[in-house]
Amino acid sequence: MATKHILIVPGDGIGQEVTAVGKKVLDSIALKFGHTFTYDEALIGHIAIEATGNPLPDESLEKMRHSDAVLFGAVGHPKYDNDPSAKVRPEQGLLKMRKELGLYANLRPIKLFDELLSASSIKPEILKGADILFFRELTGDIYFGEKGRKNDGDTAYDVAEYSRYEVERIGRKAFEAARTRKKKLCSVDKANVLETSRLWREVIQKLALEYPDVTVEHQFVDSTAMMLIKDPCRFDVVVTANLFGDILTDEASQIAGSMGMLASASIGDGTGVYEPIHGSAHDITGKGIANPLASILSAALLLDISFGMKEESALVINAVDQVLKQGFRTIDIADANTAPENILGTAAMGEAVLKFL
Ligand code: NAD
Repeated sequence: MATKHILIVPGDGIGQEVTAVGKKVLDSIALKFGHTFTYDEALIGHIAIEATGNPLPDESLEKMRHSDAVLFGAVGHPKYDNDPSAKVRPEQGLLKMRKELGLYANLRPIKLFDELLSASSIKPEILKGADILFFRELTGDIYFGEKGRKNDGDTAYDVAEYSRYEVERIGRKAFEAARTRKKKLCSVDKANVLETSRLWREVIQKLALEYPDVTVEHQFVDSTAMMLIKDPCRFDVVVTANLFGDILTDEASQIAGSMGMLASASIGDGTGVYEPIHGSAHDITGKGIANPLASILSAALLLDISFGMKEESALVINAVDQVLKQGFRTIDIADANTAPENILGTAAMGEAVLKFL
């Protein structure tokens, strides 16, 4: 029996809707296993800008630092998406949170629940058995380098930068994870063109000497994008830089059927942050149809990684599996075989998972 303090940071759009469900699942686990989970809430993103003028107020950051884990939703608002000139933006809150908390490793497990084989746009026979763990570097690369305009604003630049230290610490996490799985690591770069990628490859090659039991392959990002769709089962653990990881994991979400199914963990030296990989999805906000399973699976990752509660985490994943086996679907993962009465909204899908828990 443990006592833990969890910060709930729903953010914007459907972040509010799905995080409420993720929290209920944590509550249910605490009750079942006799743990005491205490909660607080904090603002980030558009909602924080509206309230304070700041996408990540100091108060939110302090609360994050003093929590055992953070369950996060999403940030973003169409107002900013259509206004590239806006100086204060929701995603600045997200990037600042990652930087300030030192969240340098983003783990994205891509595992297809068998029941969703037909929900993907990829052929079932290609997908069956796909199980990939992505390690995306999260606090370096072109996202955090110098950026600006020159020539009276007619030329723009974003500088990509990586240090040996940054590559080594994410590489080590990926090697360690590969050891606990199929002992296969694919390091993705663009070493034929980019200097940052040549450093990346050099560091991973050197690290490989320390992990002789892990088979390492180096692959260019463009061919990886192709192979993910052609033969997803060939991958086990994949490690890559921030920008490549951002794009490849969205692509890989189609292996799992929907963005609404994928959870992620951002970890570093302090508090871990757990979040769905999807954004604030304003096209469906307020309709009560968002898939909450990614938030529920994020709660499962939180229990496992930050609290070491393996049994509790497995129970949550099993409950999701059971609900899918019973034929329940949210609209994004429904197909022609789904009975109309089995298509559930956000809250009802949450209740279905709670019932199995
Ligand atoms: P998105 O992930 O919000 O949505 C992409 C598509 O997937 C939409 O059609 C949406 O309806 C659908 N979708 C996403 N999550 C779903 C769920 N749980 N259930 C059912 N359908 C779901 O990406 P976008 O449309 O490119 O961006 C919308 C906003 O989110 C933007 O402002 C963007 O900046 C922001 N964003 C934030 C994050 C984050 O907070 N980590 C990540 C990506 C995008």
